[in-house]
Amino acid sequence: MRIVRDVDGLTPFFQGVFVPTMGALHAGHEALIRRARVLADDRSPPRSVVVSVFVNPTQFNEKKDFETYPRDLETDAMLAAAAGADCVFAPPPEVVYPPPPAPPIPVPPLPRVAAAPGLEDRHRPGHFAGVCQVCKRLFNLVRPAVAVFGEKDWQQLKVIEALVAAEFPDESLRIVSHPIVREQDGLAMSSRNVRLSPLERRRALSISRALVEAGRHAEPSQAEQAARVVLMANRLNVEYAAVRDALTLEAPRPNRPARVLIAAWAGGTRLIDNAPWPGFELASA
Ligand code: AMP
Repeated sequence: MRIVRDVDGLTPFFQGVFVPTMGALHAGHEALIRRARVLADDRSPPRSVVVSVFVNPTQFNEKKDFETYPRDLETDAMLAAAAGADCVFAPPPEVVYPPPPAPPIPVPPLPRVAAAPGLEDRHRPGHFAGVCQVCKRLFNLVRPAVAVFGEKDWQQLKVIEALVAAEFPDESLRIVSHPIVREQDGLAMSSRNVRLSPLERRRALSISRALVEAGRHAEPSQAEQAARVVLMANRLNVEYAAVRDALTLEAPRPNRPARVLIAAWAGGTRLIDNAPWPGFELASA
């Protein structure tokens, strides 16, 4: 397994299966990398698996969140190698965003799903501009044939699918999604979970319970209300608990797949989660 920091080092890994991350890798990322390995080996000769570790400054709303984001490249590289990566691409910021006189890295036009739903787009202004900017840049540097994204960031997944449809219309890049990996008790794995105190960790568990509770109601506004009640009873500060069309993330429509999405703060830590709606059950509950 190679750790690559510059653009030239990527050449042997072109046309691979790519897993973009911000590092602080956990079992959720590990599942994505294992999935990438399977996809890469499903071909003769096998493709390479490339994992990027880059904490992208342009997608953070708060400087403090960026500065305190957990970073541990050595551990990340070990986990990535064990899960089947051939290359960890860990560029310094100037490789992704070359300083002047190089031209600035453009922000691609934002798809509707990055601006209309009023979910992450409303609560993290500028976030998807940064995500689209860095993903397009990374795709152009890594030149993958396939990229794997987690359903944990459902709106991001839909944004990336739309971005790729618009920016890579020749279908030279395929997006594969992977289900959410949870702790045994149901909490969705996240690099930010390490910031939770034991009390916040217990309270955060109510997020997955709220998804289950929402799934027991067949009417969207009742489902949203039921989710909020669970979250507020556990002292979480709710940003949104919303039932939406699973693809557009706008109002749900009859006979189309829907999703319930939650963003809430446990103390100073913002957590997100989502599930198919209605009728979601936790495997381990
Ligand atoms: P991040 O490092 O948080 O930017 O995430 C990198 C990729 O891992 C994204 O595609 C996320 O959706 C995915 N991911 C993060 N946590 C999980 C999880 N618990 N289950 C599945 N995928 C995840």
